[in-house]
Amino acid sequence: MRAFRYERARDPRAAVAALTATDGARYLGGGTNLVDLMKLGVEHPGLLVDVSGLPHGSVEPTPPGGLLIGAAVRNSDLAADQVVRDRYPVLSQALLSGASPQLRNAATIGGNLLQRTRCLYFQDVAKPCNKRLPGSGCPAREGVHRDLAVLGSSEHCVATHPSDMAVALAALDARVHVLGAAGPRTLAIDELYRLPGDRPDLDTVLEHGDLITHVELPEVPEARRSAYRKVRDRASYSFALVSVAAALQVAEGRVRRVRLAFGGVAHKPWRARIAERRLLGGPAGEPEFVAALDAELARAEPLRDNAFKVPMLRHVAVRVLAGLAAGRPGTAARPNGDGEDR
Ligand SMILES: Cc1cc2nc3c(=O)[nH]c(=O)nc-3n(C[C@H](O)[C@H](O)[C@H](O)COP(=O)(O)OP(=O)(O)OC[C@H]3O[C@@H](n4cnc5c(N)ncnc54)[C@H](O)[C@@H]3O)c2cc1C
Ligand code: SF4
Repeated sequence: MRAFRYERARDPRAAVAALTATDGARYLGGGTNLVDLMKLGVEHPGLLVDVSGLPHGSVEPTPPGGLLIGAAVRNSDLAADQVVRDRYPVLSQALLSGASPQLRNAATIGGNLLQRTRCLYFQDVAKPCNKRLPGSGCPAREGVHRDLAVLGSSEHCVATHPSDMAVALAALDARVHVLGAAGPRTLAIDELYRLPGDRPDLDTVLEHGDLITHVELPEVPEARRSAYRKVRDRASYSFALVSVAAALQVAEGRVRRVRLAFGGVAHKPWRARIAERRLLGGPAGEPEFVAALDAELARAEPLRDNAFKVPMLRHVAVRVLAGLAAGRPGTAARPNGDGEDR
């Protein structure tokens, strides 16, 4: 690891000023991703500005009936928050399906949103990778890509976004509050992340120095009946092969409200808007769920070794929707456990 300076941010504006003034500087949340990447030589910031002690450590109700979540809140604390567990179980379950209890105790909400892809080539500085070194190539397309994207990828990059939490936030239409050099602004989470296109080095639309201060959840009545389901190679400590965040409200056998997002399959959390439109107002039955998923997944472009993700995702999404329709939201989130489905 190369030498670097460390500063503890005193207040949000000072943090932004310090970052903006220093090329290559990085904010430090829990450090569970950034420090690993520094050890691997993927990241080599000359300055770390620690933002974990900024006054962004609480979860507060908002007047419109939602929640304002500070970026410094720890993943385990948000998962255990009673309001989140009651009103947004999909978010609590997604958080508990990520990493391990020790990592969740250290990881912050801001850092979780901006963690980098787990593509093997990205993490290996001896290999080419367009995301790490623009223009150097994408060996994953012909090489090891079993875990990588089947939706929205480009010839330049087939990486997936690794965050479970972000998938639930995408389904919930969360907004991200950002403080930049020009002042504060908010972004829909869908606007925050980008597909790779010809600039896979850019994960998000954020500028250097932009600080995530909060994540805002709107009131989402149907989220009281919501679930997160994740398929992975091991029961714990493993990233999603595919994951599904869903909320469903059914009245008189028909879909009144539905929200659906996928993880492990694209460069960003994938909001399944085609499937949602197909489902809305129709019968809440399995044939309709399958047809809606087929319509969404018609856009999939799997590679040699990851085509299995398409039927796997369809199956998991249909099971989650059917469970919600039948009043079985799935595994309850367990704040002190790993939260995996059993
Ligand atoms: C073994 C292992 C298994 C894991 N499994 C999973 C999993 O299954 N699912 C999952 O979702 N995650 C998983 N993770 C990833 C883990 O969730 C992330 O490492 C963690 O959420 C990152 O949060 P952090 O606060 O430690 O971020 P940091 O490492 O501190 O920062 C990550 C990035 O965010 C930036 N940043 C941090 N805070 C801010 C801010 N407020 N504003 C702007 N930029 C900011 C940093 O500069 C850095 O670029 C795993 C990690 C490990 C090591
Ligand atoms: S998929 Fe993306 S991150 Fe992986 S090697 Fe290709 S360019 Fe790099």
